[in-house]
Amino acid sequence: MLDCAIIGGGPAGLTAGLYTTRGGLANVTMFEKGMPGGQITNSSEIENYPGVTGEITGMDLMMPWPEQCQRFGLKHDMSEVTNVAHNEDGTFTITKENGDTIDALSVVIGTGSTPRRAGFKGEDEFFGRGVSTCATCDGFFYKGKEVAVIGGGDTALEEAIYLSNICSKVYIVHRRDTFRAAPNTVERVMNTENIELVLNASINEVFGDKMGVTGLSVKQPEGDRQIDVPGVFTFVGMNVNNGVLKKEDGSFICDMNEAGEVIVDLRMKTSTPGLFAAGDIRIEAPKQVVAAAGDGAVAGVNVIHYVDSVKNK
Ligand code: FAD
Ligand code: NAP
Repeated sequence: MLDCAIIGGGPAGLTAGLYTTRGGLANVTMFEKGMPGGQITNSSEIENYPGVTGEITGMDLMMPWPEQCQRFGLKHDMSEVTNVAHNEDGTFTITKENGDTIDALSVVIGTGSTPRRAGFKGEDEFFGRGVSTCATCDGFFYKGKEVAVIGGGDTALEEAIYLSNICSKVYIVHRRDTFRAAPNTVERVMNTENIELVLNASINEVFGDKMGVTGLSVKQPEGDRQIDVPGVFTFVGMNVNNGVLKKEDGSFICDMNEAGEVIVDLRMKTSTPGLFAAGDIRIEAPKQVVAAAGDGAVAGVNVIHYVDSVKNK
């Protein structure tokens, strides 16, 4: 029986791991299906993590976190969790992809979010063959070439700036004429010579041939326009990864809001005793590394109180 099972090894899960183990829990396992670090490892630049100055990638930022946790005894199980069940005796059963199960007194869910599909024609057909959601991973394939970026949030604009250093030209295709991204990011985009804004533009389709993408067609108030590019990067928001909390009947083991985010209180407690949520998956998450880490710390401290109370009942 684990004292605590942490699901997800992003900033939230890793910090929960640090606080639970350093706070004295002996038997804590973090289940992370890939390399620990979370979605920020796909970011080419992070400039708003407190105390970190200078140019640093998401990968650089997250590199030391797992080692720090392991020093205090956090175990990493490199597995995908498929389900978290709440048992009648108050414990939890974690089911892994291979069917193995393990029981835990408490759970921190920190499975974060994944990039949303935009839903345009050609997106699925050309995904991985010219359509991408990761500039750090795929930008280099378009060195010296023109690419398009879809979206108007922080991710789209930041990644467009990153791509502008590799590619000869970047078209930002956005459905409105104002941006959600932070004002200083918008200003940087405006001051980047090889970025062209294609505004009030909806995508008709992304097209190509058997080698991959060759371009996209957009609809603007002034008419349709064709942009010939071999790469299209979509950054149109994120979906929360809440599937592991689903029961067989489709309901969840704790209360969620209508967007599928986990409802928590200020201690990161959910409506189910012993189940905590941290990071992007919780309601009102500012979707920031520092906030996810903060949630992980809050959850970790409160897991310790919870496990103490269960063991000393
Ligand atoms: P995540 O980072 O999403 O981590 C969740 C982890 O859980 C992942 O590693 C995933 O593999 C794992 N997982 C999911 N499901 C399972 C499962 N079933 N079993 C096992 N493991 C599972 N924030 C900033 O503060 N500054 C920035 O500059 C910034 N830039 C960004 C740039 C990009 C391109 C993106 C995509 C995001 C950016 N963000 C930035 C947001 C930031 O990355 C997130 O807010 C933060 O990573 C959330 O942390 P998390 O731990 O909640 O979730
Ligand atoms: P986001 O803020 O939700 O922005 C998504 C963008 O995609 C919006 O501009 C939206 O247009 C557009 N869009 C949505 N669906 C679309 C569709 N089907 N077709 C075309 N365009 C579509 O998502 P994000 O940029 O990934 O950011 C997610 C969160 O992470 C945010 O809270 C963000 O602040 C945070 N984040 C922060 C940083 C940072 O702090 N530096 C960096 C990255 C992300 P509309 O604007 O018209 O809705």
